[in-house]
Amino acid sequence: MSEVLDRVPGQEAAVAFLTQAAERPHHAYVMAGPEGSGKSIAARAFVASLLCSEGGCGKCRACRLALDDRHPNVFVVEPEGRDIHVDTVREEIWHPAYRTAPEPGRKVFVIREADRLSPAAADTLLKVLEEPPADAVLLLLSARAHELPETVLSRCHVVPFTALSEAFVVDALVAEGAEPTRAQLAARLAGGNLGRARRLASGEDGLRFRDAALSAVAAAAAGPPGALEAADLVLAAASGYKKGLKAELDREVAPFLDERGRPEDAYRGAIRRIETRFRRRERRAERDYVDWVLLGVSSLLRDRVAVATGAGERVLMNPDLPPDGAIPVLRAVRGLAAVEEARAALAEDLNLNARLVLERAFLQLATVAA
Ligand SMILES: [Zn+2]
Repeated sequence: MSEVLDRVPGQEAAVAFLTQAAERPHHAYVMAGPEGSGKSIAARAFVASLLCSEGGCGKCRACRLALDDRHPNVFVVEPEGRDIHVDTVREEIWHPAYRTAPEPGRKVFVIREADRLSPAAADTLLKVLEEPPADAVLLLLSARAHELPETVLSRCHVVPFTALSEAFVVDALVAEGAEPTRAQLAARLAGGNLGRARRLASGEDGLRFRDAALSAVAAAAAGPPGALEAADLVLAAASGYKKGLKAELDREVAPFLDERGRPEDAYRGAIRRIETRFRRRERRAERDYVDWVLLGVSSLLRDRVAVATGAGERVLMNPDLPPDGAIPVLRAVRGLAAVEEARAALAEDLNLNARLVLERAFLQLATVAA
């Protein structure tokens, strides 16, 4: 029995498999399934089940830290930029795998977006998979598991995850206490991506990204000078979001400090890892937030087009907002294409100048077609 795994929404087959596996774990698993199908949520619950003395009660210290990605025995690896580098795998997996765990019990290694392992990183990982330490469990998460090297795949148990329907995501959020209208909106804006929908439905920042999107669309609708203002608005919202993250780091390391606020010796490594992951997240925060705002812009323009083509309210992405009739529909169509292009470009190349990309996209929305 695992209380925490029981709470993972959908994915009955995967959850049943993981519940069994938690009792006598194999050394490596690949959680394979589309973005937003709940792999991360299930991985955290599985890790808690592996580290909790009750098999995943959901209440003890081990469970709480594991569910929060902060357990000292859990090593999380994720892409920096486009790839997972060999140095990261060496330092965060290979070395700790053969050392004593920071706390008594198992060591768990979680590799997010594992298909982005560089070839050298995959080779290093393979060494660990070939001679797995008895007290280690490795979890690889991937939306493109078929892109993993066959040598890696063949040494792991594959746990398939299936896509979740929008209705399912709404129900899951409501069951977790979200207000139904907000749950609906979050599920729709997140395109059925459970993790993202949950952040939209529960985060303190909530729908502030959409307020930024609304202001940006209104500015761009006023003409070319407004397009430049729209780009400013988006970047300002993103930098505000990044500043807001700072307080989280203090909260995250607090359990590993002594009463004078100094790191306890045993936890220096764990604190360093939390800080490194936090810095990485902070570096990505602005770009992530820009994408959220652009997703909001895209959803508003889509609604404008939907209403103009006589589609009913049922298909609106923002059912709580009357579509802005001020934007001519042709401009909305062009703007929608430009915004999606901008999102793709920014996701593809982290070194692009975001301001230029945003200005170009908003100009498409602001300019009357020739
Ligand atoms: Zn527990």
